[in-house]
Amino acid sequence: MTLSTLLTDATTHLTAAGISAADARTEARMLVQHAFGLTREQLLLRSEVELDAALLEPFLLRRASREPLTYILGERGFYGLSFHVTPAVLIPRPETEHLVEVALAFLFTSLGSLGLATPSGFAKEVSYSDETSGASYPLRSEERAISRTQRVPRSRAVERGEVNKSGGQRQVLDIGTGSGCIAITLAKLLPDTSVWATDISEAALEIARENATRHGVQVTFCRGDLLAPLPLDLCFNVIVSNPPYIAPSEASTLEPEVRDFEPHTALFDNTLGGEGLSFYRRLASEAPARLVPGGLLAVEVGQGQAEAVARLWRDAGLIEVSITPDLAGIGRVVSGNKL
Ligand code: GLN
Repeated sequence: MTLSTLLTDATTHLTAAGISAADARTEARMLVQHAFGLTREQLLLRSEVELDAALLEPFLLRRASREPLTYILGERGFYGLSFHVTPAVLIPRPETEHLVEVALAFLFTSLGSLGLATPSGFAKEVSYSDETSGASYPLRSEERAISRTQRVPRSRAVERGEVNKSGGQRQVLDIGTGSGCIAITLAKLLPDTSVWATDISEAALEIARENATRHGVQVTFCRGDLLAPLPLDLCFNVIVSNPPYIAPSEASTLEPEVRDFEPHTALFDNTLGGEGLSFYRRLASEAPARLVPGGLLAVEVGQGQAEAVARLWRDAGLIEVSITPDLAGIGRVVSGNKL
């Protein structure tokens, strides 16, 4: 069968399975590229080449059963990086890039005096965490070199539970890291920052570790519930999370790709009466104690949840609580600072 006929047939097959015509054409192209190892250019230039349709069939059947394209391809782009993704992890979403941006904006600007990397290079000052109070002070640039050389190697520091007290390294935490997309993106963009990530699922952490290795970054992954697996005296400049926020009662409204294939522990707030907000309530009560003064707690929220989560943040004593909309104008990220 020629490539162009194969594409047309595949598109028809996917449309018949309930995938929109616009998506079906694009997805058929991507599946053909994947099945035959073709680049986009080859796909466009070799429309008359003869291909064995049997090689495409298994992929086509999977997609027609509404398995997400991302699980079939095994890859997903997020904030300009490509992540390995399996059914053990939630598929990274473009909305979540806003959460990364909120964290970066905070680290690049409002904490600039605490020595944060800026897009054009490093800021002239660097933070130094006070041994006793944990408060951060700006250091002049010449002092920065000293603080760097004095830094305790992280593995030893971790063993001694002293990470936050050694050389002023900034600490960022991603709770419920899944594929690791948020933590790894932040680690990649903030090379002078110590990034931690937790997840309840060991299978998810395996994928996240693999993604960290792929991108050449060091993230300390810990298995456990929210902040539970972290050293008790470790405090963070930024805590981010994209927790499960869908109420189980909404399951019937989800696309089959989401409901039938993505991990339910990553999607649903299963707490009775939680209505999607349980993880935010827990974060509001547990996370502020683990922030340095001025530190940021930022989360992704579901449609219609932003105001309720902002209220939880204010009730927890966080200040400068703000809601950042996504590209569709939906309140998507709620953030606030510890006094
Ligand atoms: N942090 C991951 C993401 O944003 C996983 C989130 C989750 O599993 N709820 O994609």
